[in-house]
Amino acid sequence: MTHKLPPLPYEYSALEPHIDTRTMAVHHDKHHQAYVDNLNKALSDFPDLQNKSTLELLSDLGSVPEKIRMAVRNHGGGHANHTMFWNSMSPKGGGVPEGDLADSINEAFGSFTDFQDAFSKAATTLFGSGWAWLCIDKESKLLITTTPNQDNPLSQGLIPLLGLDVWEHAYYLKYENRRADYIDGWWNVVRWEFVANNLTAVKIAHGARDVAEDVKDWAQDTWSMIESAFSSSEED
Ligand code: MN
Repeated sequence: MTHKLPPLPYEYSALEPHIDTRTMAVHHDKHHQAYVDNLNKALSDFPDLQNKSTLELLSDLGSVPEKIRMAVRNHGGGHANHTMFWNSMSPKGGGVPEGDLADSINEAFGSFTDFQDAFSKAATTLFGSGWAWLCIDKESKLLITTTPNQDNPLSQGLIPLLGLDVWEHAYYLKYENRRADYIDGWWNVVRWEFVANNLTAVKIAHGARDVAEDVKDWAQDTWSMIESAFSSSEED
């Protein structure tokens, strides 16, 4: 099995005016494609690892041979992060979360506005290239974190529910150096249903973990379930 570039779940122009057509085309067709190609190149001599999902690899980088560990971290991370990113946005996005996700955000951050402010601040002040994340920890508590480069929170034991790419390639053509304006625009396209589905998938996985006796037996199923939630682009 080799990794493939997933198609964008909407037109390049769908997120205008918040994210411009040319940025979407270059970001998806060139940048994301390069992560996929370089991940496949890194895995080419390791057929056993080719059968693992990207998330499974990133959640246990220590088990990846040292020779390709950095390549898997960078390009596997790039592939996983961008796949999640495309699916987390929609022309019908924006607004506020509902249901269990809204309750979990209020519990962790006080209110949705407090969460939004804290997330925007983390994304704006992250130095250099990287990502801002809404994550869930092992105790099912939500938190905001940032990672450099293409690192995924899974490598630190956190499961991402929503990620924002703040590499300059994500916004420079339209917003130039104004990262804060890009972030303000991005909130208008966030697909909260996607984030809520991820939260549900992780809570189910945590429930399975809590009753499982042999961790290794369910790890692969768990990652498959979470990966399929992350890859979901279904719209109501
Ligand atoms: Mn990117």
